[in-house]
Amino acid sequence: MAPQREWFEKDYYRILGVSDSATAKEIKSAYRKLSRQYHPDTSPGDAAAEERFKEVSAAYDVVGNAERRKEYDEVRRLGPAAAGFPGGGAGPGGFQFQDAGDLGDLLGGLFGRSTRGGRGGRGPHRGQDLETELHLTFDDAVAGATTTVHLTSDVACHSCSGSGAKAGTIPRRCTGCGGQGVVSDNQGLFSFSSPCPTCGGRGSIIDDPCPTCRGTGVERRPREVKVRVPAGVDDGQRIRLKGRGGPGQNGGPPGDLFVIVRVTPHPLFQRRGRDLTITIPITFPEAAFGADIAIPTVDGGSVRLRIPAGTRSGRTFRVKGKGVVTPKGTGDLLATVEVAVPSNLSSAERKALEAFQAASDGASPREHLGV
Ligand code: ZN
Repeated sequence: MAPQREWFEKDYYRILGVSDSATAKEIKSAYRKLSRQYHPDTSPGDAAAEERFKEVSAAYDVVGNAERRKEYDEVRRLGPAAAGFPGGGAGPGGFQFQDAGDLGDLLGGLFGRSTRGGRGGRGPHRGQDLETELHLTFDDAVAGATTTVHLTSDVACHSCSGSGAKAGTIPRRCTGCGGQGVVSDNQGLFSFSSPCPTCGGRGSIIDDPCPTCRGTGVERRPREVKVRVPAGVDDGQRIRLKGRGGPGQNGGPPGDLFVIVRVTPHPLFQRRGRDLTITIPITFPEAAFGADIAIPTVDGGSVRLRIPAGTRSGRTFRVKGKGVVTPKGTGDLLATVEVAVPSNLSSAERKALEAFQAASDGASPREHLGV
């Protein structure tokens, strides 16, 4: 077993409850005791015990073996400071790092693992994630749609299929690094990796570059991507199209394409998550006497809404199941009534309202305000 990244992070002695100067016999007996205590057969279904059991087994795997224990002790003695890591300091029970990303790169180099695929554009690496917008009508967003987005982006060169080598030739493996893209310099326990100077870290050498892309393997082209928009998608939501982003390089996988949905507003309905909202004007007599009215639904149909007598303006009624159908469930339609006030009264209406005012003589709706 090569030294592991976990070795910096885990104090195996502490996990086993022994000191770092414990004898092999002490370690063995501590392990036996703990593994009996936490064995899944002893406490079936106890997730915490199972976790402890795994931890104890992992610890014994390393410090229970004389050779691995020596390596482990050495790694922990040198620690991140040995590699000149600035944030590294020994904390209780292990070392602490400020940036796990840097640590990964650092240890990749320390332990002689290839850094291909890491940052810096060396060796095979994943293509870029791309973003594009898709404009949908309100109805299409609610119902779902299959459509096409148009974008111009880097794609694998059509002449060389992305290899960068002229058609009919192939890139040859770099002899400087054996195709690894990195060269290692061994210094005792650790080895330090750097990009291969012969191939510039690509791992391969192109003798005859493709004339279309000048050896880059990439060209910029307008393209169309088919998108299946799920029903119920909302404004601002992102749809991920795996592998439809930028082309990978040196054999790396392509990136993803993120399609950001922009929904055109509806003249009647608004979205509130899965629910739809609508404002329904009613007359004063309807609010006062109650009424049974038809209101529209987003699918183009209608439902009946019963307005009880004495309904105030601004009251919201929930119509179950008439919202947006999404994969996670169906929303409701929230209908808010608003008493419409006529601006031009016929003389008959005016007379009727004057009679109403006279009949309700003295009853003010503002009485509770105390002024
Ligand atoms: Zn090409």
